[in-house]
Amino acid sequence: MDYRAIEQLSITDKLTQLYNRAKMEELFAQELSQITHYEVPLSIVLIDLDHFKSVNDTYGHLTGDKVLQELAEVLRNNIRKTDYLGRIGGEEFLIIATHTNLEQCLTLAENLRQKIESFDFFEAGQKTGSLGVATYHSGDNEKSMLQRADDCLYYAKEHGRNQVVSETVLTAS
Ligand code: GH3
Ligand code: MG
Ligand code: MG
Repeated sequence: MDYRAIEQLSITDKLTQLYNRAKMEELFAQELSQITHYEVPLSIVLIDLDHFKSVNDTYGHLTGDKVLQELAEVLRNNIRKTDYLGRIGGEEFLIIATHTNLEQCLTLAENLRQKIESFDFFEAGQKTGSLGVATYHSGDNEKSMLQRADDCLYYAKEHGRNQVVSETVLTAS
């Protein structure tokens, strides 16, 4: 195996062929270090399938894997060239949307929510996802932004799933 192939392996999630967590963390840090110099917006979307465990329980782990691969494809096909997409956990996906403000990112996330909802997944059929959206504020780092997106995701799960929750909900409640 040549050097390029090894490097490719080290940044790729084996199941979905998306960026893995380590690569997403690297890209996130890189983007954040740039926007502190130039005043451009940066937002993120955290995506988690709803009741995914029931897919594994009902159809088996291989079907669960297939559903994750299909979800990766749905996401890949509906983001822009300037967005980074990766799988950062078992059934958790992250999008880093460069040059994107909160409102634009909410539009992107809502489109993804609809695309997930209308996709016919292998064996499992219709599935939904919950999405949390956070945007960069002065003083933010990767951890603080991810935490807000995760809080949004938690809020979405608590309020019926299959929805996009914006970070503005966190300060309003
Ligand atoms: P919620 O709507 O609250 O998100 O419920 P959930 O069932 O989706 O979430 P939960 O966190 O309870 O379960 C996630 C499941 O994802 C549990 C784990 O077995 C499964 N999982 C994680 N990684 C993989 C994987 O690589 N392949 C498969 N098939 N399943 C996975
Ligand atoms: Mg889930
Ligand atoms: Mg989860």
